[in-house]
Amino acid sequence: MDFRFSEGEEAFRQQVRQWLKQEIPQRWVELDPGIWEETEESWAIARQFHRKLGEKGWLAPAYPKEYGGLELSHMKRLILAEELAYNRAPVGVEVEITVNWVTPAILLFGTERQKKEYATRIARGDTIFCIGYSEPDAGSDLASVKTRAVEDGDDYVINGQKIWCSYAHLADYCWLAVRTDPDAPKHKGISVFIVDMKTPGITVRPLINILNHHSFNEVFFDDVRVPKENLVGQKNNGWYQVAIALDFERSSIGWAATNQRIIEELADYARETTRNGQPLAKDPLVRNQLAQLAVENEVARMMAYRIAWMYSKGLHPGYESSMSMVFVSELSRRTASIGMRILGHYGELDRGSKWAVLNARLARMSLSALSIGVGGGSNEIQRNIIAVRGLGLPRK
Ligand SMILES: Cc1cc2nc3c(=O)[nH]c(=O)nc-3n(C[C@H](O)[C@H](O)[C@H](O)COP(=O)(O)OP(=O)(O)OC[C@H]3O[C@@H](n4cnc5c(N)ncnc54)[C@H](O)[C@@H]3O)c2cc1C
Repeated sequence: MDFRFSEGEEAFRQQVRQWLKQEIPQRWVELDPGIWEETEESWAIARQFHRKLGEKGWLAPAYPKEYGGLELSHMKRLILAEELAYNRAPVGVEVEITVNWVTPAILLFGTERQKKEYATRIARGDTIFCIGYSEPDAGSDLASVKTRAVEDGDDYVINGQKIWCSYAHLADYCWLAVRTDPDAPKHKGISVFIVDMKTPGITVRPLINILNHHSFNEVFFDDVRVPKENLVGQKNNGWYQVAIALDFERSSIGWAATNQRIIEELADYARETTRNGQPLAKDPLVRNQLAQLAVENEVARMMAYRIAWMYSKGLHPGYESSMSMVFVSELSRRTASIGMRILGHYGELDRGSKWAVLNARLARMSLSALSIGVGGGSNEIQRNIIAVRGLGLPRK
């Protein structure tokens, strides 16, 4: 089996690298916001960068041309994702949500008008979505959503509450799962709507995350009128559509490249740092742990490649996405934990301290990595999916 990229793909990687060298703003590099650490300033830079990527056709490169894409191969999409992640470009989870999770589901289930309107704007970098699935009593058991949508003339009227909605305070639209038939079995009475976040009756309240940043929110819906044309797919078929969108969410393409950069930085640190008169790089424990991370990251990379390959063959990754999510999320936590041990007490210092190392990335990562493996479905739920869909074990 030959895992090499073709010459054309390698040339594309060089082209992306070159472009990123010129286009990643210096101010972004100085701010260096990690995942879930957005500020008003970093968000503004990121939004500008999304549009630049959009102009080049690189924000949603694999979308069909009629919906704003370039119809690039999924392998080129993977290369682009790897380079954006490795080079820490101003592209975060908001792009994953909008471009790679919500829109593929719109392209699968949406009306022609929805595909034209939303996918095209998203591919240009003009529109950001948030996701409204979780509720105070519906997380892992997502089919228990209670937020109600009731038909009234040309609209549906929505009432209820969502929680943990990442970027709801910044997004233009919400991809919202609601109950449309309270009498049907719980998986059969759910529908999905596209809701304009400026609609009267929506209240967004901040939740401060473990990194002391505002990244997610509670969202309240009080008699929110949504036109019927914003229903996506069939009424009461939302559970299926959400499940498919969640498979996109769990694909985790790009994470291995993020992790690769950190492993390389830790190896450089070990080469450059002396502890107790010995270079850290000569410490057998440090070498062993870094080598182990390198092995595991290669596994994560192969899992991402398998998913990209499946997309390229028109196959839909289901349990494969869950496998990747479990592995990558737990590897991120292990990388953070090993990194913190290698850095010693210096690793615990925040960016304000002159003794902080690697821009406090490992300390920040050890907090943010806790959330990966919860958002998008906890790892226990992913393991249930692998057991049922991957191994064919009984559901209960
Ligand atoms: C950083 C972050 C961002 C998020 N962003 C969004 C967002 O944008 N939109 C959105 O809708 N939601 C979002 N979420 C919410 C996320 O989807 C939920 O937190 C997740 O699905 C778990 O639900 P819960 O928090 O209600 O936990 P619960 O479902 O109450 O689970 C609690 C614990 O019980 C375990 N458990 C539950 N059921 C089972 C089972 N059947 N088998 C084994 N173990 C089980 C879980 O694994 C977990 O450990 C986000 C979460 C995080 C952390």
